[in-house]
Amino acid sequence: MFKLLLVVPCYNEQEILQKTYTTLSLYFSELKERKAITSDSKICFVNDGSRDATWSIINSICEQDKNVIGLKLSRNFGHQAALVAGLLHNKNLFDCYISIDADLQDDLRAIDGMLEKYQEGSKIVYGVRNDRTSDSFFKRFTAETFYKLMQRMGVPTVYNHADFRLIDNQVLNEFSNFGETNLFIRGIIPMIGFQSDKVYYKRLEREAGESKYPLRKMLIFAWNGITSFSTVPMKLVLWFGIFNFVFAMGITVWVLVCKLFGFTVQGWTSIVLPMTFFSGSNMIAIGLIGEYVGKIYEEVKARPRYIIESVVNEENQ
Ligand code: UDP
Ligand code: MG
Repeated sequence: MFKLLLVVPCYNEQEILQKTYTTLSLYFSELKERKAITSDSKICFVNDGSRDATWSIINSICEQDKNVIGLKLSRNFGHQAALVAGLLHNKNLFDCYISIDADLQDDLRAIDGMLEKYQEGSKIVYGVRNDRTSDSFFKRFTAETFYKLMQRMGVPTVYNHADFRLIDNQVLNEFSNFGETNLFIRGIIPMIGFQSDKVYYKRLEREAGESKYPLRKMLIFAWNGITSFSTVPMKLVLWFGIFNFVFAMGITVWVLVCKLFGFTVQGWTSIVLPMTFFSGSNMIAIGLIGEYVGKIYEEVKARPRYIIESVVNEENQ
């Protein structure tokens, strides 16, 4: 039997939160009855600066149910930071931790499998979607391209795994040593090591409310993942530079030949074209370097990744 904490980040989830809680607590009692988890296992809802009634719903849930912890962040810090807040705030107080979205798109039944694998000795169990038919074509296409791109770029991600996973307290302790500001949890966890396993499940439909990850946020997230973990873009710039250099050499030969044979008055085009081309590619290269310098700047500042405003039903040591 394990003492489990379920961490649920919530951002403007008033439409679904009550239902999520009912479903989760039903499932929790079932697990407790089956003696899969201890009776003091808990659920932690992290309110990520919601602008709707999410926090008051969490408060009323906490009042009825002392096995629910409510954590309020001082503003919207984003999904990743909210998750880290829920996990780290409860470090060393539980045996294992499962992170799950508030919309219940991830099948709860997969938790059975996670606990089994945990029992068998895995310290990390990834929830992997093997069926995304409930997602729209666009969401599926963009998400799968994202995972493929990540792998191409050498970011150590698990294909089709988002943030639905079980981790052991020891893994959480190691995770807490990764102090980076640009959070990309699913890239960090595989780097930690330890015995790990996967559990497959079908991704369900969002029951209410809408996705908080529109295309814009997805692109920012993917970009963040790539530039935080991979230097491949910089290497590409180098190759691009080499290609440009060879190309410029070709143009030089051509210009010299023209000069030699006296066709020199030719060509405004041949001046302007290379000029724009090369100044353009310089810009790209500088922009990319700027991206990494920007990252260093952010990391050097080492600002807090989240700020907790208040806690309800705090778990005591
Ligand atoms: N979320 C959050 N902060 C944010 C955006 C989202 O805590 O700034 C939470 C949200 O409430 C949900 C989870 O992160 O529990 C995943 O978001 P969503 O379901 O909207 O993403 P999708 O499943 O569409 O990728
Ligand atoms: Mg969702």
